[in-house]
Amino acid sequence: MPSLPDLTAEQRADIRQACGFACVRCGVTIYRYLALPDHSGATLLCPTCHGLVEEGRLTATQVQSFHANPVVRQRHFARDRLPFSADLPQLIVGGARVLRDTPIPITLDGEPILVFAPPRRTNGATRISVRLGNSEGEPVQVIDGNEWMPTNGSWHFLLRGDRYSMMAARGDGLAVLRIVARNKIAVEHLRTTIRGRRLEVTPDWLEIDGKRHVDRIGSGTLIGLEM
Ligand SMILES: [Zn+2]
Repeated sequence: MPSLPDLTAEQRADIRQACGFACVRCGVTIYRYLALPDHSGATLLCPTCHGLVEEGRLTATQVQSFHANPVVRQRHFARDRLPFSADLPQLIVGGARVLRDTPIPITLDGEPILVFAPPRRTNGATRISVRLGNSEGEPVQVIDGNEWMPTNGSWHFLLRGDRYSMMAARGDGLAVLRIVARNKIAVEHLRTTIRGRRLEVTPDWLEIDGKRHVDRIGSGTLIGLEM
């Protein structure tokens, strides 16, 4: 299934709405915009489900059927397990204090590592963006407003329990976000190097250039910590 890089903002909004703001098969809110097998339009699949299609483990007919009846619209679907909230999420990161109203908790060398935003529509999902260093230490946009960007297998995505995990195929870059509640996200583990500057983050502390900090990230501000 080909990606659709040239969609307008309006087309993207329509596709998100039609799919319920998530992967039509599993409900993960990190996805690609993909052309439907019958070319009747576009759908959303998370990196894992898209991988199943590419491996031939999901048929075109199955994809069409998931698209016709997205999982998030089904009665059994547990929305609370995933970040479907109209509000900016509270963040558990780098110390005991819970961060509120802090869209960008950390920048490293001018790069916004994580960005959170409320959905554009009330029944949508928290918009998450992740920017991490590649194996050469250059920043790459791994997720841009919930859209999974890597197309060359350089990053892997996994939903494990209540965690969104993304890992570099080469090097040790990773980010693990735990969905504690609809509107509460913990940075369970993040590790990246950008232009020689190393950052590691857990719910309890963060370490920058080998120095550990606790409760250094400001709450209620656009950027919580600039390093
Ligand atoms: Zn999926």
